[in-house]
Amino acid sequence: MSESGEAKTSAAEVDYEHLAAPEPNGEVSGIWPLTAQRADDGALTIGGVSVAQIASDFGTPVYVIDEVDFRTRAAAWKPAMDEAFADLAGADVYYACKAFASVGVCGWALEEGLRLDACSEGEMRTAFGAGAKGEQIGLHGNNKSRREIEMAIDNGVAHLVVDSLAELAHVADVAHWGDDGGTVAKVVLRVTAGIHAGGHEAISTGHEDQKFGLSIASGAAWEAICETQRNQRLELVGLHSHIGSQIFTPEAFSQAARALLDLRARTAAEFGVVLPEIDFGGGYGVRYTAADPVAPAPADYARALAAAVREHVEASGLAAPRVSIEPGRSIVAPAGVTVYSVGAIKDVPLEGGKSRKYVAVDGGMSDNIRTALYDAAYTAALANRESDAPSAVTRVVGKHCESGDIVVRDVALPEDIAFGDILAVPVTGAYGRSMASNYNMLPRPGVLAVREGKAHWLIYQEEVPDLLSLDADYIGE
Ligand SMILES: *Cc1c(COP(=O)(O)O)cnc(C)c1O
Repeated sequence: MSESGEAKTSAAEVDYEHLAAPEPNGEVSGIWPLTAQRADDGALTIGGVSVAQIASDFGTPVYVIDEVDFRTRAAAWKPAMDEAFADLAGADVYYACKAFASVGVCGWALEEGLRLDACSEGEMRTAFGAGAKGEQIGLHGNNKSRREIEMAIDNGVAHLVVDSLAELAHVADVAHWGDDGGTVAKVVLRVTAGIHAGGHEAISTGHEDQKFGLSIASGAAWEAICETQRNQRLELVGLHSHIGSQIFTPEAFSQAARALLDLRARTAAEFGVVLPEIDFGGGYGVRYTAADPVAPAPADYARALAAAVREHVEASGLAAPRVSIEPGRSIVAPAGVTVYSVGAIKDVPLEGGKSRKYVAVDGGMSDNIRTALYDAAYTAALANRESDAPSAVTRVVGKHCESGDIVVRDVALPEDIAFGDILAVPVTGAYGRSMASNYNMLPRPGVLAVREGKAHWLIYQEEVPDLLSLDADYIGE
């Protein structure tokens, strides 16, 4: 798996076999969006639109999202879960907006039968902007503001996922404070079951020593359950766990399921309350490069979860819970590609008489922080043409004042790559734009949707004047 958290800096460790980007093949397990193709002249097209044309019409860097790809992946989850949980109490799929949120994309998710998982005022307002009703939204976060809690309660969101005892008190306080003499907040408790799954430490959240969740082992989770039973402002509707990201093993989710269901059984035994919901979070893996395994299909994860739930309810005799999950990356990451223009190129000598080719592009860590943050692996390909030139091990870097500003650590690209070529980096639909920054005062790239030969903006390109418009002294002049 690519996100091991171990630096892959030495040339000896380079996985030469998987260095070249595979060609687009129209498959769900591919690296490129489903509609990506090479045209007869060798140029890359996505959604029937030439990537080189996008670059010249809209500029670079720019994110491109394949609407058909997004909808296909979103639409796969709902029936997979419905089918697996048909003999239980059914299932809901929440698209995790943090992976990438815009009104357009949230609208696609809703149209494909998904709900939306938001964790801030901005994400909630984007979801409302897409036409989501309160009951189609779940609110997350480990430090919700009063305003966010009020917005959630006033709009009747499905549930607030509460992360700590302090937050539970805060939510109860805000519910109490409502104008109409107070309301009851429907809460789900996020618990940590001690299960560690997925890639880099910063994205593995099921173990104990981290900021998220109420620990089952320490007793905090149980204390929170007891508090909800004492406090009339809180209605406990379920339990939640999110065990990490980039998880390729359905068994990890089954393990978390058993821990949550045990806690649910204890709540039933102690308080006579059978919690109606269980939420297993997100974290379903995607392939970033040819070196990554092919991820299990939604149906594989769904069946593993349903088997764990079925076994538990049969053994405990309790009514089945309604189950929800929150995939983000697995829906939007493969739908997105970042398009850059190639700028300065240099060969840097390495030990042993070798050299490494550095290709600088017109973006970098401000539009994709994942390589610097998690040592994530990506691949890249020429988008404006094909080349018969032999390939060279190349490092794609950005234009920021930081040596860690790497977009693709190692990739085989044609030796004749040149200034002005267009480079496409696939699988950047998740956590690219949503984690983008203005480092070095770079405007954040816009996001284009492509479909059936047409491109349109989902999020406009930021311009330098947008940044300066927030500079008090600049405006004051
Ligand atoms: C990040 C996160 C998700 C989405 O994770 P993906 O890896 O994008 O599927 C879902 N739920 C919670 C609580 C999260 O923190």
